[in-house]
Amino acid sequence: MSTEAAEPGAGQPEQRRIGVYICHCGGNISDYVDVAAVREALKDEPGVVVSESPVFACSDGTQHDMIDDIRAQNLDGLVVASCSPKLHQVTFRNVAKRADLNQYAYTQVNVREQDSWAHPHDKAGATEKAIGLVRAGVAKTRLSDPLEPLRIETVPRALVVGGGIAGLRAAIGLADVGIQAVVVERESRLGGWVGRFGPTFPDEASGAEEVAGLVEQIKARRDITVYTNAELTGKSGTFGNYAAQLTLHRDGSDKQLTVDVGSIIVATGFDSYAPDEGEFGYGIDGVVTLPEFKELVDAAPAGTLSYSGRPVRSIAYVYCVGSRQEAPGNEYCSKYCCTATIHASMLVSKLDPGIRQYHLHRDIRAYGRNELLYNESRDRGSIYLKFPDDTPPSVQKEASGGLSVTVTDLLTESRELTLPVDLVVLVTGMVPRENSDLVQVLKLPVGSDGFFNEIHPKLRPVETVVDGVMIAGCCQSPRTVGESVAAGLAAVAQSAALLKKGFAELEPLVARVDPEKCVGSGECLTSCPYDAITSIEWDGRQVATVDPATCKGCGGCVPVCGSDAIDLLGYTDAQMRAAIEEMIATDVPVKEPVG
Ligand code: SF4
Ligand code: SF4
Repeated sequence: MSTEAAEPGAGQPEQRRIGVYICHCGGNISDYVDVAAVREALKDEPGVVVSESPVFACSDGTQHDMIDDIRAQNLDGLVVASCSPKLHQVTFRNVAKRADLNQYAYTQVNVREQDSWAHPHDKAGATEKAIGLVRAGVAKTRLSDPLEPLRIETVPRALVVGGGIAGLRAAIGLADVGIQAVVVERESRLGGWVGRFGPTFPDEASGAEEVAGLVEQIKARRDITVYTNAELTGKSGTFGNYAAQLTLHRDGSDKQLTVDVGSIIVATGFDSYAPDEGEFGYGIDGVVTLPEFKELVDAAPAGTLSYSGRPVRSIAYVYCVGSRQEAPGNEYCSKYCCTATIHASMLVSKLDPGIRQYHLHRDIRAYGRNELLYNESRDRGSIYLKFPDDTPPSVQKEASGGLSVTVTDLLTESRELTLPVDLVVLVTGMVPRENSDLVQVLKLPVGSDGFFNEIHPKLRPVETVVDGVMIAGCCQSPRTVGESVAAGLAAVAQSAALLKKGFAELEPLVARVDPEKCVGSGECLTSCPYDAITSIEWDGRQVATVDPATCKGCGGCVPVCGSDAIDLLGYTDAQMRAAIEEMIATDVPVKEPVG
């Protein structure tokens, strides 16, 4: 693994040969910033040999022009003042690479989101600010060193945490692409929630049978190892080479085991919302949750449904229990429960079409093809009543021993109805599983709703900020079986992309300790949220060192060091100081905010 910066920068900062491109963004920038004035202000800056202002810097034509300039002018630095680096940093780094310029000698300056869009009513001020920002970018680039991506070897084995349907399917997918899989499941059996159920929507396939089929496949695979009654209790090493510490709970004692893995897929599933005693009558005999009801229906003999030995002739379903609550409750929609309830009610009408079924809902969110199930259930006689958000139904135990539900029905001019029923089903949603130990071990990001957070819900939907650690299924958010399996397979594809080559490349923009300056105070050791800093012996004394493969380049440790011994490659103190000094030297007028 390469941990060092490559060759130092080319000569004195003022001898650098930097190309600067200030983009119009087709008017997004140039309507509010005098782009020509910025170009002119930059052209005589020390080290700047090209200063241009293309209409679209990211267009193919401009990219080719930049490549030609880099080659013809022998540029050793590139600055593009345009949009956010989130949008085009990769684009312009690739321009540098295509022209054989070190990609880390490129600096993107954001004069769109941070300037033209922020100051649309002050062109003079926005122009001054742009000049200051671009000068700062040039100052940073003058002091840039060429860096190379960190190359690390990867182990072709993945750990799957959770043996529910998403985890099992992921394990098979990994083995299919030639990556060994190790599955850890903290329960004594595999299959999670789905393995407990009979027919499921949308295809009526039995959840238990589907899981049994996956387990049979896994048993036949030599490249998949399963540990039940087991947990991931520790992780060391770095992305591509994690040492995962497993604790196996065996006959009253714990056994420790370490497996080397290149990636980790977390598929720990969800818990069903547990209503409080008295919440919609929970605790009264005959009031059950949705999973309890599904198991009751799955186990019912043909032609009849009974509860506690009593025949069930009527059922009220109360939707959105534990979902769409007021803050600080669970504000989200659990998404699957409308359709799961409609589907269960159709199983009931197949058992006995004479059972009366009332669905008390705020909205029915049976999306996509599931809408057809909703229509079919109404055709089969289910009655849907819509209650107001602020007037939920109430459940009572009658003196006769039966149950009744009182509901205000918006669909019949807000009439208050009292329904005598034999069974009340609370349509309970999904809640995040208690996983605090795992969160600690893996440093998993948790959202405000308690579910794990991916990097980007659309573009990087199974990756986390921890390299090589992915999330899949209902540990991310409420979702259906199909969606959970799809996420599991996406994590497989992501693991394959990381592990199949045998090596991976990481950003070299990481912290580095200068051991000459380090006094070994250890101040920085606890400052790193990723545990990337350790103490080593160097030249007869203890100094801090950063593992570049673990470091995320957040910079948090840099100001902690009282000896100024830590620098962030690509954002060194000298670079940042020079950039700030340029900003200060540029006289940006301060104006009262508009509006
Ligand atoms: Fe617009 Fe960014 Fe493209 Fe320039 S580089 S045209 S700012 S999108
Ligand atoms: Fe840790 Fe951030 Fe410092 Fe890297 S830069 S060692 S991630 S604190």
